[in-house]
Amino acid sequence: MAIETARGAALDLHDLGKSYGGLKVLEGVNLNVAPGEFITFLGPSGSGKTTTLNLIAGFAAPDPGGRMQLDGRSLAEVPAHKRDIGVVFQNYALFPHMTVRENIAYPLKQRRPRPDRATIERRVEQVLTLVHLEAYGDRRPDQLSGGQQQRVALARAVVFEPKLLLLDEPLGALDKRLRESLQLELRRIHRELGVTIIFVTHDQDEALTLSDRIVVFREGAVEQIGTPAELYNNPGSEFVATFLGDSN
Ligand code: ADP
Repeated sequence: MAIETARGAALDLHDLGKSYGGLKVLEGVNLNVAPGEFITFLGPSGSGKTTTLNLIAGFAAPDPGGRMQLDGRSLAEVPAHKRDIGVVFQNYALFPHMTVRENIAYPLKQRRPRPDRATIERRVEQVLTLVHLEAYGDRRPDQLSGGQQQRVALARAVVFEPKLLLLDEPLGALDKRLRESLQLELRRIHRELGVTIIFVTHDQDEALTLSDRIVVFREGAVEQIGTPAELYNNPGSEFVATFLGDSN
């Protein structure tokens, strides 16, 4: 079912960096993401993937000098909740005391102006259908499997029709079979919504399967950017070759 969602946004990162207490954890990140692209941030633990996502989402401020633009508009002065970016982060849990429907409706109810009740109900049903959870709307999160909970988180992230979706290891806690089926779902949702996606993983197979382009991170910097085929066939460094090769 097609739903009336704006197509994806363009995202431009220029010389983005981040320091914590004088220690630089991210430096010189440049990236131009086309509308509707599926981009994966790939790299070992601690390489700066989540930090970059946090800067884009507005959960942390970049060091002075860096620039971020969404559809050509600077994000510098825009607070996180006004960026219209959907996020599924591992530590961004569902509200345990709310039903699935209430969880999904929550971001819509926070919006100003607040949509009317009929609009909220219609949107919630649309995204429940999108993630194939029509029958689970009245359950609470603890009555769902891990995979179903992730689907609810995804529905909640897209309910206000964001043009950019940030997904931080959304499949990380799931077993292999479930991961693979949710990977397919994610591709379908990406196709249906046309939303721009940035997906973080340290799983090479997942990156190669899902992405239009992969950004390889190493020690707080971008090591290489390319399509899965480009990276696989022409790795720019021993690091990229070894890291991608690890999956085989
Ligand atoms: P990844 O997502 O690739 O695993 P992160 O972006 O989470 O990596 O972390 C990159 C580096 O930044 C790590 O060395 C981490 O310890 C450091 N870091 C992340 N957040 C903070 C913070 N709030 N304070 C201090 N250091 C941090």
